[in-house]
Amino acid sequence: MVCSIDATHDLNLHSWVESANQADTDFPIQNLPFGVFQRQGIAETPRIGVAIGDQILDLTACCATGLLQELSAPLQAACSAPTLNPLMAMGRTALLQLRHHLSQLLRTGQAHPPASQILVPMSDAQLLLPATIGDYTDFYASIFHATHVGKLFRPDNPLLPNYKYVPIAYHGRASSIFPSGTPIQRPHGQQKRLEDIAPTFALSQMLDYELEVGCFVGIGNELGQPIAIDRAEDHLFGLCLVNDWSARDIQAWEYQPLGPFLAKSFVTTISPWVVTLEALAPFRCPAFLRASDDPPPLPYLSSSANQQQGGIDLTLEVLFSSAQMRREKIAPLCLSRSSFQQMYWTVAQMLTHHTSNGCNLRPGDLLASGTVSGAEADTQGCLLELTQRGTQPIALPTGEVRSFLVEGDEVTLRGYCRREGYRRIGLGECCGLVSHL
Ligand code: MN
Repeated sequence: MVCSIDATHDLNLHSWVESANQADTDFPIQNLPFGVFQRQGIAETPRIGVAIGDQILDLTACCATGLLQELSAPLQAACSAPTLNPLMAMGRTALLQLRHHLSQLLRTGQAHPPASQILVPMSDAQLLLPATIGDYTDFYASIFHATHVGKLFRPDNPLLPNYKYVPIAYHGRASSIFPSGTPIQRPHGQQKRLEDIAPTFALSQMLDYELEVGCFVGIGNELGQPIAIDRAEDHLFGLCLVNDWSARDIQAWEYQPLGPFLAKSFVTTISPWVVTLEALAPFRCPAFLRASDDPPPLPYLSSSANQQQGGIDLTLEVLFSSAQMRREKIAPLCLSRSSFQQMYWTVAQMLTHHTSNGCNLRPGDLLASGTVSGAEADTQGCLLELTQRGTQPIALPTGEVRSFLVEGDEVTLRGYCRREGYRRIGLGECCGLVSHL
């Protein structure tokens, strides 16, 4: 089941929350992403909220004031939970019902209780992880990223022979996923450069970011029950931004034969708002068009619905500032802009492949896409590619140069969808400042 466009996507909808009607907001009434927050300075259980302009609609408060009483008891209970996991487990039909209800509630002209009872300014809230993430899997779904990185390590044979058949992934670490704003510490680890006789244990000199899109699992599956490609989106809740911080020197030495380990698990950050597949309905597009001499996906990864609408037209950006740039009030530098439409595998193919051996996924599990890069130099989603493994440093407006990240550097990921005739919606931001802790 692919989500359809309905009245909640109408370009002419406006909200009584004024900031949601500003042209540049990521969170107009057509978006309605879910997150989990705590009011600053108040010791309270985390609450589910919906981003609307620069405000958060507090769903626990909405329940308490009777605003959700038309919804089923289980749905109301899921809205008052301290994480999104129960809501994720309820599936598409319940979610669509909730979306229609919230869209009504926030529309101009709708009678509502005093805003102070149900809205919290985003600036007064701490945004937490949206879900308890049981498992985290990181894919490698950009053929451009895989080819660029492969070229750096294997100039003659950049793309391994399995790439066009298998959505490649590794099991990541869920415990070190933190929300946007968490300080990033350069990790220590084993490194061995080509000229070294023996490895050393030292501070990473090749700290990098990876621009990725995360997809939260909705309804899970039982062990031994694969999910067919045409049912895959029934099991996907929504998207966020992921920064898969990576220590390239540690990675280069440790990754064979089992793949990344400590080069990635020191921290991963995600944006706090989860944009649902319902909200993304107007921005669906065909899956990546494979070259005519590429093999078609194997039948279990192939369907006409996935081919025609499996892609998501989502633009992604990486913004960078050094400490000196911020001191001199220089605006952040856009290091790359890429499109999620350019991924070789769709989110449905990733989920179907993941469960094809019977592996069970659970509500709140996170699937990340892998670095989102395009073919061109200004579309590459990590420094490893942009600086050719550090050999072509980037010149900053201050006269500084960067091969990899150093203390004081701040990386902000952004994502948004635009289409003629529809309201622009965004994923918000995923930020990280490299800090001495
Ligand atoms: Mn990654």
